[in-house]
Formats: sequence, C-alpha cells, structure tokens
Amino acid sequence: MAHDVIVLGLGGMGSAAAHHLAARGQRVLGLEQFGPAHARGSSHGGSRIIRQSYFEDPAYVPLLLRAYELWEDLERTSGADLLTLTGGLYLGPAESTTVAGSLAAAREWGLPHQVLDAAAIRSRFPTLRPRDDEVGLYEDRAGFVRPEASVAAQLAVAGRLGAELHFEEPVLDWSANGGGVAVTTARGTYTAGHLVVSPGAWAPRVLADLGLPLRVERQVQYWFQPVGGVEPYLPERHPIYIWEDRSGVQTYGFPSIDGPDGGVKIAFFRKGTDADPDTLDREVHTEEIAAMAERSGRDLPTLPGTFLRGAACMYTTTPDEHFVIAPHPEHPRVTVACGFSGHGFKFVPVVGEVLADLAIDGTTRHPIALFDPARSFPVGSTP
Ligand SMILES: Cc1cc2nc3c(=O)[nH]c(=O)nc-3n(C[C@H](O)[C@H](O)[C@H](O)COP(=O)(O)OP(=O)(O)OC[C@H]3O[C@@H](n4cnc5c(N)ncnc54)[C@H](O)[C@@H]3O)c2cc1C
Repeated sequence: MAHDVIVLGLGGMGSAAAHHLAARGQRVLGLEQFGPAHARGSSHGGSRIIRQSYFEDPAYVPLLLRAYELWEDLERTSGADLLTLTGGLYLGPAESTTVAGSLAAAREWGLPHQVLDAAAIRSRFPTLRPRDDEVGLYEDRAGFVRPEASVAAQLAVAGRLGAELHFEEPVLDWSANGGGVAVTTARGTYTAGHLVVSPGAWAPRVLADLGLPLRVERQVQYWFQPVGGVEPYLPERHPIYIWEDRSGVQTYGFPSIDGPDGGVKIAFFRKGTDADPDTLDREVHTEEIAAMAERSGRDLPTLPGTFLRGAACMYTTTPDEHFVIAPHPEHPRVTVACGFSGHGFKFVPVVGEVLADLAIDGTTRHPIALFDPARSFPVGSTP
C-alpha cells in the first residue's frame, strides 16, 4: 500500500487534514475534483469570521482556543497572512440568541468581553447604527481569516511535507473493509489504511450511506461600496459584526479589505435556499440584492451605497446546526467530516488536527461529542 491515508476532498477541512496527517509522518494521498482553493464549494469569498464568545454553544470554545493557536502556527509555517483580528460585535435585542448566547459562552469560559448599549456602540463604531433597544457584546479576539489563502497555505505545507495531491480527479466510489480502504477515480483504484471523507456540499452523495439529514443551501455574499468610501470601514475602525433583528434574522459584515474601490462584504447568515452542488445557481438576482441593500441600510448609515458584486456559496446544514466529525459508524477505517452548517471555517486547522487524531489513533483529546452522527436530531427540522 503506497499510502497510509487518502483524503477525499481538499477544501477547507480536507486541506487541513492533509496538512496535519503529513505533519505527523503519514503518507497522504489527497483527491480533489476541482483545482486548488477553488470557488465552487464552501471555502471562497475572501473572508470568514472568526470569534470566541460562541453563541451556537459554549462547547465550541475549547476548539476555538486551539484553532487560534493553530491559525498562528499555520501563518508561521506557511508565511501567509491568514488571520486578522479586528474585534467583533454581536448585536441585537438583549435576549436574542446572538447577544445572550455570546454572553453565556463568554461567561462560562471567562473570555474577555464588554456589553455595550446602543449609544456606546454608535459613538465607538460610527459605521453602525443600532436601535435604542439593541445592545452588543464586544470582544477583541475576533476578526477574519482568508479562506482561499488558508486552503492554499495548507495544501502548500502538506505538499512540502510529502503529501501527494491530485486535482481535477473526482472520486467515483470508495469502499472499506477490515484491512483498509479502496478509492476509485477515472484514473484507477487507490488503496490505503484509512480514508478521511471531507466532501463539503457533496456529502449527501459521497456519504449517502450515513443517511444524515443534511440540507445543502445556497448562500450569497455581497460587496457594496459605502457612500463616501471605505475609509471608516478599515479593519482598525470597523469590527466584524453579527446582527440579529427582532424576528431572529441575522446579518453579518466585514471591514474593507479589498482596497479603496473594493467595497465591504455583507451577508445574511441563514436565509439560504435549497441547492444542488452540481447545478448551483451562481447568478445573484435583483430581488436578493434589494433585500440585502434594504437590511444594510437599516443598520449602517453609509450602506448600501453601490452594489459591486455577489458570489454564491453553499452551506451543508444539519438540523441542529452542529458539525458531523467522527469515525464512520460502520467503517472504523473511515473518518467523516461534514455538515459544517455555515460556521465551520474558523475551525479549519483544529478540525484538521482532530481528523489526523481520529485517522491515526482512532480517538482525540478534543471535545467532539456534539458532532456525533448518531445523535438524535431535533424532530420536525429534518430537511
Ligand atoms: C457564504 C458563506 C459564508 C460563510 N461564512 C463563514 C464565516 O464567516 N465563518 C465561518 O467559520 N464559516 C463560514 N462559512 C462556512 C465555512 O466556509 C464552511 O463550513 C467550510 O468552508 C466548509 O469546508 P469543507 O471542507 O466542508 O467544504 P469545501 O471547502 O467545499 O471542501 C469540500 C471539497 O470536497 C471536494 N469534493 C466533493 N466531492 C468530491 C469527490 N467525489 N471527489 C473529489 N473531491 C470532492 C469539493 O470539490 C471541495 O473542494 C461560510 C460559508 C459560506 C458558503
């Protein structure tokens, strides 16, 4: 057997797995259907929020703390600029999930934070205009990571450590037995001791045997040029933010990172439509631009300004919006990583570390009980 581990899918999670496995001396074969750091999956669009006071569940916090260490390691090892801390503000009514959930996580883990009322937010961050009944939790240790550069950096480091990486080579089939795994592409069949499956939005197909209730969603990222320019939106002035309204709809936004004419990126967090990864509608439509423009105009005094461009992306969402990371329940020689539910990128390097642990040792010291594929999903929310 020429390889110890095959990694299926070299996007965010798969490139991290290839890196961590190669760093631990494994002979790795990575197979990707498209090119390196492509824009046809879930890991493109220039920026991803990274934050610590995690309203989704405080159980993510130890993984986040480790992810920050590993992001910094990856910057050192690769020499790439990947992580920028800008501070982060999570706004909404005090009882909203975004505010109350962030506060609960910050308190449980003793994370440094400040709770600001609307007037304090308006005076400290003039780009934001909360209503009088809205508040925000602010933390310094938040910002953004650059997804394409991160995938490229992980692939480069993995390659340097001896991983063999094949692009434009879709996996057509895989199988596993007690002795190992076999993976078939148009070029032939490869065997190895272990398989890591990290197929992103293709999980419903590649991991159909798991019968997971996954929903693939089309999600658009929008760039607008603010009235008066991007100056007030530079990373040292304008934090990343997530903003929940009274109806529970969340939007989020980034500082200006693409130059004076590059605008700022904003999006709805969870307002996607069902999608198929092979026929994804990549056109961004007038009505959706109008909905984004209207919402941003409500919250930010110099937006929407001028629409510049949009880019469709995909979430692969589980009913409880928690990830799936585990040994395959039927095949101990296969490890699965999917269902990142629109919030996985900030975890990329720690997921790589966990996947390497599971592939090599069968277990990990990291807390991943929340990501068990055999958990019971909320009834009625099945896609
Ligand atoms: C619009 C948008 C905004 C987001 N914002 C944030 C954010 O701010 N913060 C955050 O933390 N997360 C965010 N996310 C989520 C995060 O980006 C994803 O959770 C993460 O990128 C998922 O990585 P992945 O490796 O699972 O998928 P991908 O990066 O898509 O990788 C899967 C790979 O598998 C390959 N593949 C699939 N099937 C096969 C096959 N049969 N053979 C070979 N290769 C195959 C695919 O081509 C792909 O390259 C956002 C996502 C989107 C879409």
